[in-house]
Amino acid sequence: MQQTQPPTNDISSNDISSPQPLCDVHAHPASMTDPDAYLQFRRKQGTSAIIAASASPDDWPKILALADRHHDVFPALGIHPWAAASLPPHALSAALDALQKHLDNRPDIRAISECGLDASKPNIEQQLSIFKEQCTLAREHHRIIIIHIFKSFHLLSHLTERDRVVFHGFRASPQIQKWALARGFLFSIGSAVLSKHPPILLPETAPFLLPESDDDGHHTANFPAIAQKLPPDASLRAITLFDLKKI
Ligand SMILES: [Zn+2]
Repeated sequence: MQQTQPPTNDISSNDISSPQPLCDVHAHPASMTDPDAYLQFRRKQGTSAIIAASASPDDWPKILALADRHHDVFPALGIHPWAAASLPPHALSAALDALQKHLDNRPDIRAISECGLDASKPNIEQQLSIFKEQCTLAREHHRIIIIHIFKSFHLLSHLTERDRVVFHGFRASPQIQKWALARGFLFSIGSAVLSKHPPILLPETAPFLLPESDDDGHHTANFPAIAQKLPPDASLRAITLFDLKKI
């Protein structure tokens, strides 16, 4: 009988001596005082890949520079709903143009993020208009959209099964979980999963959760514990979703 050795990078291997990659689908390294030291800390924790989201268009050059310097940082550029609520129309129009150019020129941009809607902020019509533009860009450029959403799920009727969607900062009602799962949308969750009163999670939603560090108030010290609370293949699913070939 011919013997064949499994390849060393076979993620289906049951070799427990090789830890699974740990992927953080929503972090903000560009917002850190010392992003390089922060990334070093994350590596020591065992985090092997970070989707670096932008909090505003001002972050984009910093995120792209970080991705150029660090093999485990994958850029995600977007116009945050707070920016969409506050910036004047000409600035938003310029940001959309710049985003399109970045998507054209940087195939390593994994997602449009963060974008979305926040009913606690003003100008919800303007927010919706800018969000829809970003959804169109995501479709045209075959990118995932990672969504910040607050009390605005009822405004998402333009999203369809062909959109690749992750709702970050999981806090969805069971009804919304069913709506999202029926369309193949995913959720990411952070330190809320560790709290004494975690959000209500339908059993069928659990396999569609991805780990994130965004809402960890301890500078992501909790991230390995967050990932451990999720199904064991959550990080691997994230890596597949974002096609992180460099890992
Ligand atoms: Zn965020």
